[in-house]
Amino acid sequence: MTTASTLTKTQLLVGGEWREASDGGTYEDFNPATGEKIADVADATGEDVAAAVAAARKAFDAGRWPTTAASRRAKVVYRIAQLIAERAGDIALREVRDNGKTIATAKGELSAIVDCFEFYAGAATKNYGDTLPPPIPTHLASTVREPVGVVGAIVPWNFPLLLASWKVAPALAAGCTIVLKPSSVTPLTAIELGRIAIEAGLPEGVLNVLTGATRSIGARLVEEPGVDKIAFTGSTATGKSVAAAAAATLKRVTLELGGKSPALVFDDADLAAAVAGSLYGVYYNAGQCCEARSRILVQAGIYDRFVSLFVEKAKLLRVGDPEDPQTQIGAITLDEQYAKIKEYCEIGVAEGARAILGAAPSTPGDAFANGMFWSPTAFEAANTHRIAREEIFGPVATFVRFSDEAEAIALANASPYGLAASVWSTNVARANRVARAIRSGSVAINTPYAVFPGVPFGGFKESGYGRELGTETMRLYTETKSVLTYIGEKPVDPFGVHK
Ligand code: NAD
Repeated sequence: MTTASTLTKTQLLVGGEWREASDGGTYEDFNPATGEKIADVADATGEDVAAAVAAARKAFDAGRWPTTAASRRAKVVYRIAQLIAERAGDIALREVRDNGKTIATAKGELSAIVDCFEFYAGAATKNYGDTLPPPIPTHLASTVREPVGVVGAIVPWNFPLLLASWKVAPALAAGCTIVLKPSSVTPLTAIELGRIAIEAGLPEGVLNVLTGATRSIGARLVEEPGVDKIAFTGSTATGKSVAAAAAATLKRVTLELGGKSPALVFDDADLAAAVAGSLYGVYYNAGQCCEARSRILVQAGIYDRFVSLFVEKAKLLRVGDPEDPQTQIGAITLDEQYAKIKEYCEIGVAEGARAILGAAPSTPGDAFANGMFWSPTAFEAANTHRIAREEIFGPVATFVRFSDEAEAIALANASPYGLAASVWSTNVARANRVARAIRSGSVAINTPYAVFPGVPFGGFKESGYGRELGTETMRLYTETKSVLTYIGEKPVDPFGVHK
């Protein structure tokens, strides 16, 4: 088995074969915590995209996977889960070195990835259609759910293998074939998934993996007429261009996009729980989370105590060596992201928000002198400030004060996004009332956890459309076919041609 430390040169997976890019091109992949080069990655060309789509198309049209018995598909998907579980330590380390996230975070993701493949292994045999009331007495009607076809799965860099698994697992379970395109900066675990899929018995061409240095690979995949559906996770801006480009060939599209999610802390909240949960909600994965609860709205009566305890505890969080199991905040994954966080902190100050924590780089020591780390940061802000409205995607919290429930709901909903929210209150009726009023895909009451296998996840408003996880997601990898059967005694002769 390849270990995380020995992998240096990667290839593309096309039609069941590992191969170089068609022009032999590669690009360099770096560990963002140390600045060290960790791999030369195959840099796919447009020709490679076309070849991968053709391989997926052939595997689909030849019926290699879509017509495989659902129980057999379930076994292969389950075997993938088992192989990932067996190699979880190695894959987690690979993810850490590619992304800069902490080993604790990566191990948690690996567990969720195994759960995801197991969940959809079970779902594969429950992809039911319906038996419908006969439209007229001489006809039976039923529906079957057929796989949608070739899926282009495009994922970002913040949870590379996790977000790939959210697409690959339901797509495989439904009988689709796939071209998976990881982010250029975090390609390594997608390659590992390709290896495991082959070992698990997936027929050739069913899962293809394309790595590439530029955005053009994803754009080309969206344009390819041989692709039936695009399952995309990334920024709202890119999501809009994906939706527009996919419209040219009327591809099915699901979009998991950005967010600026609120945590609403009411006077009657359990203070300690709300602080612990809110710290995790915003600083988990160094804040590079689509569902980060980065807008912390706090009721006036508890505001001062909440903010002071939050800041006190945030100062105790360990930023640094991602491979140390004690570290809570790892590296920022890419230069542009680091620059964006810095710029937003400057914007916050210029707008008149008050920096009460961090707002500066973190320097964890000589071994990480070439890495990119940012201190847990918090601002007291107004909801109109850009830092309280725009997605920063870093460890930056804003505190905004509110007076009553109606104002809290109005502030929470005053956003173009609607991905997730947390509500902190010991009043069960209020917490559920507020949960209903918030326009977002998930609301977590008295917990920061908004994502579980089996629980649908996705956005309202500009956070996207469609859902991932959950059984309804399987439907988004299928087409409904209606089957009508004539059961009358005499042949159907609507024109009366045999009279
Ligand atoms: P991004 O939009 O820049 O890129 C996402 C992926 O799309 C990458 O693989 C990229 O190469 C590819 N891509 C870029 N341009 C493309 C194009 N024109 N056509 C097709 N593909 C293209 O996003 P990112 O910076 O990698 O990730 C961060 C963003 O992802 C944040 O906005 C975050 O909120 C969002 N995100 C959302 C979720 C969710 O479930 N809602 C989860 C994680 C991240």
